[in-house]
Order: sequence, then C-alpha cells, then structure tokens
Amino acid sequence: MIEERFDAIVVGAGMAGNAAALTMAKRGMKVLQLERGEYPGSKNVQGAILYADMMEKLVPEFREEAPLERHLIEQRFWMMDDRSHVGMHYRSEDFNEERPNRYTIIRAQFDKWFSSKVREAGAIVLCETTVTELARDGRGRIVGVRTDRRDGEIHADVVVLAEGVNGLLGTRAGLRARPTPDNVALAVKEMHFLPRETIEARFNLKGDEGVVIEAVGTISRGMTGMGFIYANKECISLGIGCLVADFQRTGQTPYGLLDHFKRHPSVAPLIAGSEVKEYSAHLIPEGGYKSIPQLYGEGWVVVGDAAQLNNAIHREGSNLAMTSGRIAAEAIGLVKSRGEPMSATNLSVYKKMLDDSFVIKDLRKYKDLPPLMHTQSENFFLTYPQLISKAMQNFVRVDGTPKAEKEQATLKSFVKARSWTGLFGDACRIARAWR
Ligand SMILES: Cc1cc2nc3c(=O)[nH]c(=O)nc-3n(C[C@H](O)[C@H](O)[C@H](O)COP(=O)(O)OP(=O)(O)OC[C@H]3O[C@@H](n4cnc5c(N)ncnc54)[C@H](O)[C@@H]3O)c2cc1C
Repeated sequence: MIEERFDAIVVGAGMAGNAAALTMAKRGMKVLQLERGEYPGSKNVQGAILYADMMEKLVPEFREEAPLERHLIEQRFWMMDDRSHVGMHYRSEDFNEERPNRYTIIRAQFDKWFSSKVREAGAIVLCETTVTELARDGRGRIVGVRTDRRDGEIHADVVVLAEGVNGLLGTRAGLRARPTPDNVALAVKEMHFLPRETIEARFNLKGDEGVVIEAVGTISRGMTGMGFIYANKECISLGIGCLVADFQRTGQTPYGLLDHFKRHPSVAPLIAGSEVKEYSAHLIPEGGYKSIPQLYGEGWVVVGDAAQLNNAIHREGSNLAMTSGRIAAEAIGLVKSRGEPMSATNLSVYKKMLDDSFVIKDLRKYKDLPPLMHTQSENFFLTYPQLISKAMQNFVRVDGTPKAEKEQATLKSFVKARSWTGLFGDACRIARAWR
C-alpha cells in the first residue's frame, strides 16, 4: 500500500476528470489523478466540438494556449434520404468574434494540453495506471482505490469517478447499473486528411473558420442515430453512431453504416481524395435524464459520461463532463472547507449544485425525447426524411404541374405513409417531449 494519503483521487483524465482534478488542485487540495491510457487523450474519441464557455471557467486563457482547430461559424443540419439531403444551414459573421463560442478540436492533442494545466496546478497525474477496484473500509465506505501497479492501494478522503461511459469500476462496485443497450450509442469515426486549402474551398471557409454538419435520415437505416462531419484545419472528422439496442435488433454493423454514409452523394465530394489516418469506435451515453444514476455516496462522486451526463439532442457531452467535474470539485472543496467528512449526506451538495446548473436543467427538459426517438425510430429516421425529401423535390422541380396539384400530392404522400391520426400523434408526441 502507498502510505501517502490524498484529499482526492480522480479516476480518468478525460474532460470530466481533468475539470475535477484542476479545480481541486487550484484550491490547494492534494490530488492524485489516475489514467489508464498512455497519455491523457490516448483513449478518447470525440467528434469533436469544444464549448468555450465551459472551458473558460476552468482555464480562462485557453484560447491563447490550447491546441484548437477551427472556430465554428456555421452549423448545417441535414435530413437525408439515399440520394438527397434537405438542409438547414446557419452561418453568421457574429461567430467571427474575438472570443469564439465553439471550436473543433482533436481530443488526443487537447486532452494532453488540458492535463498539463492539471499538473501545473499541482495535481499528481499518473498515466498507464488502471484503477482495478475501489477500496472500502469496514463500514463499506469508499476510502481509496486499487490499481494494476504493485503496492497499488491508495487512500483518499474522496474518489471522483470520471471513468467515462465504458467505466466498469462504479458498476463492479455496485454504485450504478451497467448502461443498457437502449441507453448507449456506438459511434465510429474516421479522420480524413486533406490539404488545408482543399478543406477551406469545399466548406467555403477562410482562415480558422469552421463548419459542423450533423445529419439524420436513411443513413441510419431506421435506427436511432446520427452522422457528423466536422472540419478541422487539415482533416475532417466524419462519423456515425446508433443505439446499441438498434444494432442488436437490426444486425447492421457500424462499419457498414459508416461506409454507406461516406458514399452518400452529399458526403463523398467533401472527402474525395482524402487519406484516412485514424479509425476509432466509442460508446456515447444517450439515455438522458432518466438514465442518470446515483451521483454520490460515502466517499465518492461520479461525473461526466460515467454519470450518463450527455445531451443527445444537442450533441453536447464534453461541456456537461467539464461542468459536472468542476461542480463536483467545488462541492468537495466546500465540504472540506467546513472540516466535515466526505459522507453521502455532505456530498449530496454536489447533486444540489448540479440540479441548479444547465446540466440537469437541460437533461430534465428533454427527459422524454430519447425514449420517444427510440420507439419511433422507423418513422423519425426513415419515413419522414424520405417524405420530406420527396416533398422538397416536388416543390422545386418545374414540370408544368400546377402548384395546387403538387401540394395535394405531397399531402397525400404524408397521409398515405402515416395516416391523419399518425401525423397528429407524432406532432403531439414531439411537442410534448420537447416542451
Ligand atoms: C464519436 C463521438 C463524438 C463525440 N462528439 C462530441 C462533440 O462533438 N462534442 C461534445 O461535447 N461531446 C462529444 N462527444 C461526447 C464526449 O466525448 C464525452 O461526453 C466526453 O468525452 C466525456 O468526458 P468524460 O471525461 O466523462 O469521459 P472520457 O472522455 O471518456 O474520459 C474517461 C477517461 O477515463 C479513463 N479510464 C476509464 N477507466 C479507467 C480506469 N479504470 N482507470 C484509469 N483510467 C480509466 C479513460 O481512459 C478515459 O481517458 C462525442 C463522443 C463520441 C464517442
């Protein structure tokens, strides 16, 4: 056993773990952070969009120091069928601001930099160290961790579980259930390298401007899922993910979907001639508010993806991870400053603070959407995209058919596919869940 005792041990050096470790170290707490990867970021897969507001709260000067790719000036949403996409694009010069709101990043580089700030703040960061078990005292309280290193038991007042969605520690210790297949998506991602000028020409960009494309429709073959394309400086991150339960149900493969997505006529020209240098796969928590487990207990708190804190509707995860990590650290700091023990009662302040933040407010707002999308996936991800694409084609194609007849034909196609009751029901269900 390692004799040295820490104020806190943080398991994992992703967004949530780094936010927690940095916040506690800045408060002068003695922090040990353990990461199983060769370096922070080596195990991480993300699109990736970084949300500046949440990062700024942790490292105000990050814009000058961090390895950022492009600041986002345009967001495209595509609803696709096999040959077309109906798009909604929002591009604004307002995003060419002095302190941009969102950036694309490459996690392997970004996490390494983020971790350097954690070290600078005084935390000890040990990589290539897997936490194998949580250590308990005679009364069942968590008092530290065991690792795969020799003499691996280390003690602390509190353990912050920031082990990500795949984390087995909390589930093995009985602190939370394993995520179910209808609560997690499996996403696959590739990095397509192209010359900088080619990316800028294809996406209509200049300088460090960036674009994000998020796409739904027949690309997920009736499963609950989404594709994404993010423009970085010299590469394009492209990926697709669907609920694990849907992969199980349909027998589709993630590689098959990705291949299909890349060959879509709206996507292929964007990546033509690129060199693929990286391929990765990762789970994403998608269950939303109803899947959030117990967030604290005797001597422990859980943050980020490990706590299922992911907003699948807005595709936000890293900002919820950073915020929950920071808030957990502030809650721990508060308990410590009062000289009180890290008991479940005292650590419950973390949940109160999180409830008051956008993290829980947003997840609570959308609490009924993930199950609705799942149970109605054939309609929302297959039928409607096809109908909407046909309606658009009918609207723009000029062929001598009177406009009133065209409108009638479009209306009829919707009613034929879903019936009046079905259409009304879908509209009500969406409105109710969105509210
Ligand atoms: C394909 C994809 C695209 C995404 N795109 C976006 C996006 O554009 N924007 C966004 O905000 N979010 C995005 N997300 C979600 C985002 O990546 C996550 O929400 C975020 O990374 C969660 O951070 P975390 O720190 O909780 O977990 P992670 O980043 O997964 O970090 C967990 C860390 O814990 C370590 N670890 C696990 N177990 C142990 C152990 N036993 N011992 C030691 N270390 C351990 C892991 O190695 C890892 O480094 C995306 C996710 C995926 C998969």
